[in-house]
Amino acid sequence: MIDTRQIEVKHVSESRLPKVDFDNLPFGRVFSDHMLIARYDEGEWKSVSIEPYGNLSLSPATSMIHYGQSIFEGLKAFRNDNDEILVFRPESNWERMNKSAERLCMPAVPREYFVEGIRQLVELDRAWVPNRPESSLYIRPFLFATDEMLGVKPSESYIFMIITSPVGPYYANPLHLKIETEYTRAAPGGVGAAKAAGNYASALYPAKLAQEQGIDQLIWTDAKEHRFLEEAGTMNMMVVIDGTLITPKLSSTILPGVTRNSVLKLAEDRGITTEERDISVDELLDAHRNGTLQEVFGVGTAATIAHVVKLTHNDEIIDLPPIQSRKVSTLVGTDLLDIKMGNAPDPYGWNMRI
Ligand SMILES: *Cc1c(COP(=O)(O)O)cnc(C)c1O
Repeated sequence: MIDTRQIEVKHVSESRLPKVDFDNLPFGRVFSDHMLIARYDEGEWKSVSIEPYGNLSLSPATSMIHYGQSIFEGLKAFRNDNDEILVFRPESNWERMNKSAERLCMPAVPREYFVEGIRQLVELDRAWVPNRPESSLYIRPFLFATDEMLGVKPSESYIFMIITSPVGPYYANPLHLKIETEYTRAAPGGVGAAKAAGNYASALYPAKLAQEQGIDQLIWTDAKEHRFLEEAGTMNMMVVIDGTLITPKLSSTILPGVTRNSVLKLAEDRGITTEERDISVDELLDAHRNGTLQEVFGVGTAATIAHVVKLTHNDEIIDLPPIQSRKVSTLVGTDLLDIKMGNAPDPYGWNMRI
């Protein structure tokens, strides 16, 4: 066994940082100088190192390419006005990655590679964490199967990696979402609760159809009847009806978002009533008609909170209350950002300081 506390580091000879325009960062296309790479084979982790960011060389028979044994995570590091760097809830992402791994028959990633790996990688590429307001260093850990083999079976070898990408403010334009009643993101017993690569591939086509109608994204509904709300694009979904914050309860078809969990906790701390339960499309539309539907929004790492201002359901277009009137998401969204930036106490110990 290798000593997991010792991540070998090979430094870049020349940083690419001076060439980066931090005022114009396209999302997810600029990568910092270093990456972490760990290899698993024959039942154990064989190596882990931090190296210059660069291409991989893989066999065309690499099983991940053919059968999609591939999972990922996404989290962010923020730099605040005191030049501290804070990573939000890395332990939660580590735990979730290992749940995804179990569902996809993949090995668990050691905490030392995931959490300590992020710490060392971000420390090393500290200068890549933007200091602009609402900018951050997006951290992408991922795990994929590397057996050179065309048989359909769990791979015996894997690569775990972490790459990081400086990203600008996420201009959360208010969203127009279509309540999807034909296509399905996840079915009971499937892999919807795992951050599995294939989930995103299968969502592209229905999303494209909606975008051709000028709609931003989809609200996914249950696979069987398309009656209950599940997720909003690649975010968890929340609504406020008559002052109560309601979100679909977790199940095999819902990704357990770290933002979802954080928003629920902060809302409860504010004395807001929260409910995790089924929400039917009918309930949503009824609440809209009788004037009790106050807020609809998506929650996820990318946007934190993305307001929904318009819904399309079959041929009906529904205008939702103006954003300025949205008390719950504004209050809790601000609380969450203040904690992430280290500008407010962190009662749950969510931040990892670097
Ligand atoms: C990642 C993701 C979310 C949000 O999870 P966070 O941990 O809050 O970023 C929600 N739904 C889907 C489908 C996702 O992939």
